Amino acid sequence: MNQRTQTIKTTCPYCGVGCGMEISARPLSKNFQVKVIGDQTHPANYGRLCVKGSAAGETVDLEGRMQTPQIQGQPVDWDTALQTITDKIRQTINDHGPDAIAFYVSGQLLTEDYYVANKLMKGFIGSGNIDTNSRLCMSSAVAGYKRAFGSDTVPCSYEDLDLADLIVLVGSNTAWAHPIVYQRIVAAKKARPHMKIVVIDPRRTATCDIADLHLPLKPGSDAALYNGLLAHLAQQQALDHTFIEQHTEHFAETLQQAQQQQGTLAEVAQQCELNETDLALFYKWCQQTPKMVTLYSQGINQSTSGVDKSNAIINCHLATGRIGKPGMGPFSITGQPNAMGGREVGGLANQLAAHMDFANEQQLDLVRRFWQAENMATQNGLKAVDMMQAVADGRIKVIWIINTNPVDTMPDADAVKAALRQCEMTIVSDCLQHTDTTEVADILLPALTWGEIDGTVTNSDRTLSRQRKFMEGPEMARPDWWILCQVAQKLGFKGFDYQSPAEIFREHIALSAFENNGTRDFDLSGLLNLSDQAYDELTPIQWPIHRREDNSPQGTKRMFSDGRFFTPSGRAQFIPITPRSPQSHPNAKLPFILNTGRIRDQWHTMTRTAKTAKLMAHIDEPFVAIHPADAQAYQLKNNQLAKIENELGTVIARIKIDQGQRQGSLFIPMHWNAQYASHARVDTLVRPYTDPISGQPESKHSTVSIAPYPAQWYGFILSKHPINTDAIDGYWVKIKGNQFYRYEIAGETAIEDFTLWSQAILQDLATHAERIDYEDPAQNRYRTALLKNHQLQAALFIAPTPELPPRNWLGSLFTETELDNKTRLNLLAGQLSGAKDEGRIICSCFGIGINTIIEAIQTDKLTSVEAIGQALKAGTNCGSCIPELTEILTQTLKP
Ligand code: SF4
Repeated sequence: MNQRTQTIKTTCPYCGVGCGMEISARPLSKNFQVKVIGDQTHPANYGRLCVKGSAAGETVDLEGRMQTPQIQGQPVDWDTALQTITDKIRQTINDHGPDAIAFYVSGQLLTEDYYVANKLMKGFIGSGNIDTNSRLCMSSAVAGYKRAFGSDTVPCSYEDLDLADLIVLVGSNTAWAHPIVYQRIVAAKKARPHMKIVVIDPRRTATCDIADLHLPLKPGSDAALYNGLLAHLAQQQALDHTFIEQHTEHFAETLQQAQQQQGTLAEVAQQCELNETDLALFYKWCQQTPKMVTLYSQGINQSTSGVDKSNAIINCHLATGRIGKPGMGPFSITGQPNAMGGREVGGLANQLAAHMDFANEQQLDLVRRFWQAENMATQNGLKAVDMMQAVADGRIKVIWIINTNPVDTMPDADAVKAALRQCEMTIVSDCLQHTDTTEVADILLPALTWGEIDGTVTNSDRTLSRQRKFMEGPEMARPDWWILCQVAQKLGFKGFDYQSPAEIFREHIALSAFENNGTRDFDLSGLLNLSDQAYDELTPIQWPIHRREDNSPQGTKRMFSDGRFFTPSGRAQFIPITPRSPQSHPNAKLPFILNTGRIRDQWHTMTRTAKTAKLMAHIDEPFVAIHPADAQAYQLKNNQLAKIENELGTVIARIKIDQGQRQGSLFIPMHWNAQYASHARVDTLVRPYTDPISGQPESKHSTVSIAPYPAQWYGFILSKHPINTDAIDGYWVKIKGNQFYRYEIAGETAIEDFTLWSQAILQDLATHAERIDYEDPAQNRYRTALLKNHQLQAALFIAPTPELPPRNWLGSLFTETELDNKTRLNLLAGQLSGAKDEGRIICSCFGIGINTIIEAIQTDKLTSVEAIGQALKAGTNCGSCIPELTEILTQTLKP
């Protein structure tokens, strides 16, 4: 790359919306300056970006990156690392067979990396043991589509959200998890106010801001709700009998099952613990609104009956013929940027490549011949939870984890950590040196990451987009496809001498087209023989992409418009559903149901998003949301800390009393990990119960107890450099600020010697620093500030209650080159007298806090979100905070 600023089109590294971006990158002496804006031409976002996407340019610095391959913590050259891996794989295959090897990969891999990993494992090592973290987010949706359509095909397009008259969001906090899809729905409703929006979710989330109706159903009762809907549609004669007769099978038994299971409207309402009038209204809207899209996500998928739930939804669409037409369809939306690409190459252990299956002899033979595979696997491999169990019990001797963090994200996460630690060889390819998973690895391999690599991704509506390189990574880091190919070649396998991602992508296209002739949904034949230049210039396109002489060389917006499906009969399948309860039941010891999920400004295990102060400002600590009545019953106070426990683990989190939470249910975000918090790996509480078909874990329904954390003291530390958290016996959380780090801390045991204790924590920072102290041990109060050359180095505050000075003013001092006398005098007070506390940041783009917003509403008599935007700019950039602005406005204007 030359030294001039370049503008490059690429795709966002985060969620499955798959927004297009334009990057202006300028190489500087040490790092890159990267400006990110939305791509006006990309059909997923038409120029919009949410706050995570907008801040992506702030996350590309090289701090914390893995620099070299390592064996048992010692740096080695690439050849040594790759040869060690090769020798171990060869030896293990010889001694124990290929099923003793496993790959655990990621929905954030590019399609080209994914393709090579799958080919190496299934075609040449000879095992099905490659699975992906997408197993944890959407494998139930995959299985649901395959049962109904005979193929893993998302029927809809984002455009259908613009055209629908009724959008039903089930188990999806779209406003936070898929913000640009949410904003698209908001815009559609604004343009056509008659459009109805229904949110089906046990929690009242930010998404409910635009809902005409919110159904806070009993957790896990979705299948009963949809069985009831099917029976209701039949009773009201709202079925499309022509579609049912011409294009489907097994309707009669499915309807009979639904009618037997669910009974009357009142009985369904009772089963789902819903208000009968609200339920009747939802059923009426479904009955009366042909243009209906059901958008569903993790709330459906992460369940021991996730596949049945998705089929219960699909049954209703098939029964009304609402599929394959504009503004209609069952639309599963994916969590990760390339979960769909992973599905396309066979990244799941129970799939072959290009949407083919092991169970189909012809397809198995086809893939074998196409790859000229030497050791073709012949059956499904182990799905994620079973794979980790096989690591634990020693059946798997070598596991290669690529681009993912299972020590945090797998259920029973502590057991997974122990299993990986004791595995004969755990290999981890990652871009970062320190994650909870790299810490248990025997071999570490430095990988390039977003912005440094070229490839393709597929988003939730089948749109294939390019990710493009715009900067250089660490010198010794390599793309994942290169690393995998080196091992394949060292093992002596043919067909891995690719020179570029374009070459791999051409093979992926060719496999999709190989002996296809319209028999398989996944078909990229219209792109056959794509030149390197055409690959470089590829613009977003939705698969299937047929040959020019066929009907869709420009891609396919909507599937199943002709009523033909990919089942042997060509008909869609109704699936009779018997609703099942979740596996864990609350009891006297574990009375709460724990739900886990995403928050607005963080992504997965925070490895990228926690690097920017902007994204840490909105929600800076792990929290547990609880209904006010439950909080009162368990003596839990807002903003204090709570211990959430079961037989698997303990989490400590800040209490957030939330009227939108159901009684008996708790919510904890999925993001925090041991790099950023002492006790917040929420998957340590999730039991490894899975759906029997999809293998997807029940991440939204674990039973737990909750009690106040018996803190003797609370405190915070602001520091120019990271501190020694090992010296903190208790709770801590690390938060990136602007030129400093903040730590919120608390402990159960009294601190005996504040000076010694703070020196152990602050270590080098305390050396040769000027110290200003205040101490009252009897009251458990201590304050200290360290200065060097008149600059603030660190400040530490301890008190017996969480009532401590606001952190904003102290934090702002780290950008000062010299503190004046007045400031020094105020240091231990934590604020200048009369200074305003901004409060929790709501608008991350412009750093506007809740106190400023409330004050502006009251003082300037603001009555709309638009007026807040005009007064403060809040909500006028990415729009991610608009649901919260609406809520703050409503609460503030309440009489
Ligand atoms: Fe990225 Fe946000 Fe778009 Fe998701 S919605 S792809 S996180 S910009």
